[in-house]
Amino acid sequence: MEASVNLGKIRGIPIGLHYSWFIVFGLLTYFLSMPGGFLQEFFPGWETTTYWIVAATASLLLFTSVLLHELGHAFTAQHKGIPVKSITLFIFGGVASIAEDSETARDEFAIAIMGPVVSVAIAAFSFVMWMLVSPFQEQLQAIFLYLTIVNTVLVIFNMIPGFPLDGGRVFRALLWGWTGSVEKATRWASMTGVMIGYAFIILGIFMVFVVLFTGIWLILIGWFLQNAADQAYKQMQVRRTFEGIRVRQLMEPNPVTISAYASIEELVDRYMLGRNLRGLPVVDEGILAGIITLNDIKGTPREQWSQYRVLDRMTPRESLITADPDTDLDTVLHMMSERDFHQIPVLESGAVVGLLTRGQIIRFLQLRQSLPDYTPTVQRMEQDTPPGGSGGSVEQQRAQSD
Ligand SMILES: [Zn+2]
Repeated sequence: MEASVNLGKIRGIPIGLHYSWFIVFGLLTYFLSMPGGFLQEFFPGWETTTYWIVAATASLLLFTSVLLHELGHAFTAQHKGIPVKSITLFIFGGVASIAEDSETARDEFAIAIMGPVVSVAIAAFSFVMWMLVSPFQEQLQAIFLYLTIVNTVLVIFNMIPGFPLDGGRVFRALLWGWTGSVEKATRWASMTGVMIGYAFIILGIFMVFVVLFTGIWLILIGWFLQNAADQAYKQMQVRRTFEGIRVRQLMEPNPVTISAYASIEELVDRYMLGRNLRGLPVVDEGILAGIITLNDIKGTPREQWSQYRVLDRMTPRESLITADPDTDLDTVLHMMSERDFHQIPVLESGAVVGLLTRGQIIRFLQLRQSLPDYTPTVQRMEQDTPPGGSGGSVEQQRAQSD
């Protein structure tokens, strides 16, 4: 999700406000302060402006609570060595975008549970403050009472055991620990998530006739949950399609390479047009120096093609992702999508032995989907390999790029 307003960084994590947040903030403030709303109902007799100010403060503090909840997830992930890309507050609360999946069920459990733990702590703190604040300070009392209630609701809602809610992640971590299979755990947890999403929608449809707004809200949340769970499930299916598949199986072996000192003219005439290639690895004395694609030369005017060498226009080795033939495809896909690369040179002891392109991966996916029930024996044999496997150079690149 694109953050629309940047609020700065906490421990290197960019915090963003999505546009939809402003809508919820406005609605929440309105519902809190309106006649018949929480404040007027429990604390009658204030001036109208006081209701508005208290309602706006309470709404802001609710979102601060959500932010702290997300930081609970984020800091735990960082502590486990998993980078956090961003935290975004939006219409349904907050989302911490964590760069990679946990490596163990234990890590997954810790990251999932720390959000609700923070919310429990805020609820407890607000409750104590509510008791401590003098009865003459009704406005403060109102705010702390409200924070106690909403944080408690937040914990209960988030602990519903449907993926991708925190409860669903905890559920998945437990299943993962129990069955030893992250795929099985994700399938069950996301299926529960989809069912819970539908349950919310059905409940919402009934509620519409009783309390219109609550009904619509439940339908929206149900729809959001069902979608997110379904997506998690599909992602896992794609992962399963590529499970046990190695780069070696899909790469184009012994690809055509070009010398770093060749001219752009030669590149276009002899290689791109001459051999129908959009991009190729660049070598210098047999060692990979970079990669050059059609995009790299688009900015160079035709009449200068003979003056420039491939070396001057290529993407150099340092900013490339490379893989070795035994890297598993899932790891490579992750890297490709994260850094938007379309081609990956495959190296074996420094020498270019293959080229893996996005097109080849898509072709394989299509092929695999037209043979849905067939599990190749190669795949079965290699299923014991832990996910995230042996990709030496990919792992190195990851460490460098961070
Ligand atoms: Zn959470």
